Amino acid sequence: YVGHATLEDVEKQVEAEKRNNPLPVPAYTSFEEYIATGGFTSHGELRRGDLLADTIIEALNESGHRGLGGAGFPHALKLNSVLSVPGPRYMAVNADESEPGTFKDRYFLNKNPYQFIEGMLIGAEIVDAEKIYIFLRDEYPETARILSECINKLKAEQLDSGREIILRRGAGAYICGEESAMLESIEGKRALPRHKPPFPAHVGLFGRPTLINNVETLYWLPDIIRKGPDWFKEGGRHGGKGFRSFSLSGHVKKPGVYITPAGITVKELIEEYGGGMEDGHEFRAYLPGGASGGLLPASMADIPLDFGTLEKYGCFIGSAAVIVISDKDDLKMVARNLMRFFEDESCGQCTPCRAGTEKALKIMEAEHWDSDLLTELSAVMRDASICGLGQAAPNGLMSILKHFPEAVK
Ligand code: SF4
Repeated sequence: YVGHATLEDVEKQVEAEKRNNPLPVPAYTSFEEYIATGGFTSHGELRRGDLLADTIIEALNESGHRGLGGAGFPHALKLNSVLSVPGPRYMAVNADESEPGTFKDRYFLNKNPYQFIEGMLIGAEIVDAEKIYIFLRDEYPETARILSECINKLKAEQLDSGREIILRRGAGAYICGEESAMLESIEGKRALPRHKPPFPAHVGLFGRPTLINNVETLYWLPDIIRKGPDWFKEGGRHGGKGFRSFSLSGHVKKPGVYITPAGITVKELIEEYGGGMEDGHEFRAYLPGGASGGLLPASMADIPLDFGTLEKYGCFIGSAAVIVISDKDDLKMVARNLMRFFEDESCGQCTPCRAGTEKALKIMEAEHWDSDLLTELSAVMRDASICGLGQAAPNGLMSILKHFPEAVK
């Protein structure tokens, strides 16, 4: 089913799923409600030529807006990079949200899909994308129904500018979230990450320059245009720029998706948004960026969570999936669980990742870890793996060795 589904195919499958396992479709902001709040105004201005693409790119540049899928690439720079190569061009939206602990894109799509769609159409208009592919995580069938309804509405309202919008559902493989693997999957091939360069902005889908954006990145775009770059830029805290969402889970009283100032600390996130720690649990550690972003001790809870602030500690924020660990959790098990995930999800294309994750897991299953061997193996995985999966796989284990050496002796 994966790979070549047309919108009609998706609708048929969704209907079948409804019959076999009816899932409630969440109430989302309707087209009319979105229009009533000024929705599609910026898109309309851009189409009529009242708003120039350069003005939007400049606003994005000033706002400091960055891609929110994990890599944090500056949004304006990406648009310019795609525009630097002659067309025809394509657009691919990465909605394959599968980093463990991440569920914020589903929140945006299920709550206010038309704001995301307006951002998507603006991006497509700027780079003059011939086709738009939305690659949606297969485990979100209710979101597929919502998007399917929204795409039909766009066509009916003639807001698609004649562009083909194709909804593809992933196969449940984590690696499809890696942008070049996603492109391979859309092309109908096995999702193996590509060697870079060339980067997808220049040689992407079917060899064409391709604008790849994450759902949340596009969600903020209409707001930045309407409210201005200063509104966004000044939304941050502790030096962070703008707003962003966190998927907060683990031992907090109120796990969920929270839109917060960029640069908030985990201490503030837990206290101001998460309702504090669960009763009977003491804050011990946290994963700032899902399974890939490493782990930090509670004593380092005052670091602003943003791009570029965690790297010096061997961690990164990625898609902002914060998982809170308590004194009741076994850190060795946490690290093993993370490595098992990467071992399962490795696409197998390169040896450092395919064999490295398997060997690391074997060493980590011993009662006492061989720290020297694990450190050496981690360095090979980081330096020699083709893509981010293999490069980030050892982050969790290296964090435990660094901050909690007593837990693995
Ligand atoms: Fe595949 Fe892992 Fe190599 Fe990435 S690092 S290409 S997931 S084997």
